[in-house]
Amino acid sequence: MADASENAGTAVDTGTAGTAAAATRNESEWCFAWHQPAPQTEGKTKAALQKAAMWQPGDIITVSFLDGDAGVQERVRKVAEEWTGSRMANLTLDFRKNTTDTLIRISFNYAGSWSVIGTTCRQVPKGRPTMNFGWLRPGSGEAELRRVVLHEFGHALGLIHEHQSPAGGIQWNKEAVKRDLSGPPNNWPDDVIEHNMFEPADAKETNFTPLDRASIMLYPIPASWTINGFSVGLNGELSSTDKQFIRQQYQ
Ligand SMILES: [Zn+2]
Repeated sequence: MADASENAGTAVDTGTAGTAAAATRNESEWCFAWHQPAPQTEGKTKAALQKAAMWQPGDIITVSFLDGDAGVQERVRKVAEEWTGSRMANLTLDFRKNTTDTLIRISFNYAGSWSVIGTTCRQVPKGRPTMNFGWLRPGSGEAELRRVVLHEFGHALGLIHEHQSPAGGIQWNKEAVKRDLSGPPNNWPDDVIEHNMFEPADAKETNFTPLDRASIMLYPIPASWTINGFSVGLNGELSSTDKQFIRQQYQ
């Protein structure tokens, strides 16, 4: 945890993100997203957008920071607003100061990088964060900051991880994935790996496109994790499909 940002820097700078080692040693590439609805469908996750967690077009989504450096906060805001800029989602991210009575509440104090999905934030008790950037600091590079902020705000707008899109398309080498993710630092048990990696979202509960390998919502996938040589590096920007899709969903 302590050196997550160093690992992230290594993964980005040396271009080793496509290796299993890089993908698994680094939480920055494996965010935890909380899905709704929680209890009864736990175990079934739903690029792709979870319909139950969608905002309404035109919604004003209030945002605040619970802690963190003012300069980093400002950088986060600027990048987040790319999702709602011109010809993007018809939503407003309304960043508030001097209050935390907001829908999205951002912390930098917890481990890892994560966000609740879309309107699920309404269920999080007041005062608790709905989004966390565990390793963003004043010294964080812009590419790394952009990558995690665009990804987590994708979740905040309702997007799920692209590899769980009902469109499918990834031919997993399940043994290899399990071997890597069951070890440190993830140490995921089998059912968590099954849930986070192999269970596709429900096609009826999700709006989605064919698998977009350039999506900001797609994790790095080393070739050793697939049986057909398919691999994905560290996507750091919104893909053209990400942009087109969010515009269509919130127009
Ligand atoms: Zn994520």
